[in-house]
Amino acid sequence: MEPLDRSTIWPYEGGEPGAFYYQRYAHPTGVAAERALGELEGGSALLFPSGSGAITSLVLALLEPGQTIAHAEGAYYGTALLFEELSRWGIRHVEFDQTGPPPDGADLIWLEAPSNPFLTMPDFEAAAAAPGRVVVDSTAATPVYLRPLERGADFAVHSATKYLGGHSDVLIGAVVARAVEDAERLRNFRGRTGIVAAPDPCWLLLRSLKTLPVRMERITANAETLVQKLQAHPAVEVVRYPGFGGLLSFDVADPHKVETSLRAIKNATSLGGTESVLESRARWEGDRVPAGLLRLSVGLEDPDELWADLEQALS
Ligand SMILES: *Cc1c(COP(=O)(O)O)cnc(C)c1O
Repeated sequence: MEPLDRSTIWPYEGGEPGAFYYQRYAHPTGVAAERALGELEGGSALLFPSGSGAITSLVLALLEPGQTIAHAEGAYYGTALLFEELSRWGIRHVEFDQTGPPPDGADLIWLEAPSNPFLTMPDFEAAAAAPGRVVVDSTAATPVYLRPLERGADFAVHSATKYLGGHSDVLIGAVVARAVEDAERLRNFRGRTGIVAAPDPCWLLLRSLKTLPVRMERITANAETLVQKLQAHPAVEVVRYPGFGGLLSFDVADPHKVETSLRAIKNATSLGGTESVLESRARWEGDRVPAGLLRLSVGLEDPDELWADLEQALS
């Protein structure tokens, strides 16, 4: 395993700064983790203190006041709240149905693949054909199932807190740029604003990336099993699943009853960890989602035990 170097400073070499001299600009653990993620995505990766920090940095580095983000409707609620916050600086945002073409006049097209919690997939070709720059938040897909830069995106974004970190023990975010110039622009912005991931979270990410494909394989197999059984259950109204990964949602008449009846599956927020978690999203998103919608992030447990727990909670 690569060493964890917590130094904030490194001596100059022969009176000149070397590759590392002050942690805010670059540190060896971060560079190692960025290289590993960049290889998985086929681009230049940069790490930030959270997914939201990555999104904030990307938007502020790319856009000017008066410009517009066209944002996939039904995508991660936190991103909509973040764009609302940035509107005070004159950055506008409009929502659109990402399964079709983006609206005219968008300077930045923000897709989510698959969207959280509706699990829709974007029309990549329509977005790439539009004049605006294209960002894909592929947190729920991971590079195991989707490489957005090969589908016409300029940037892939991750809440690496989720599947990439994978153990519910690290808050971290990433932007992966297709163009080296875009990565340089963002790297300069990051160094100046200080919105940068520290060595410890980068080290945990690096550790986790080593098991990403095998975790995603097991998580997908578990999710497929549960989706089939949920679809056949009389108490379940609709099941949303894109066909890969561990995120799914389904609707029931009494979501609170299911949340509080679970024993093995944790009633908690977030997604992408080794342990399955489920929650009602109306708690956070109000009438933006169906009142009975439950979001389930499937973990690495025994699928028979997961289904036994869901079945007793549904009954
Ligand atoms: C969690 C999440 C984010 C925000 O990431 P944080 O690491 O919590 O800041 C962004 N996009 C998606 C799709 C997410 O699930």
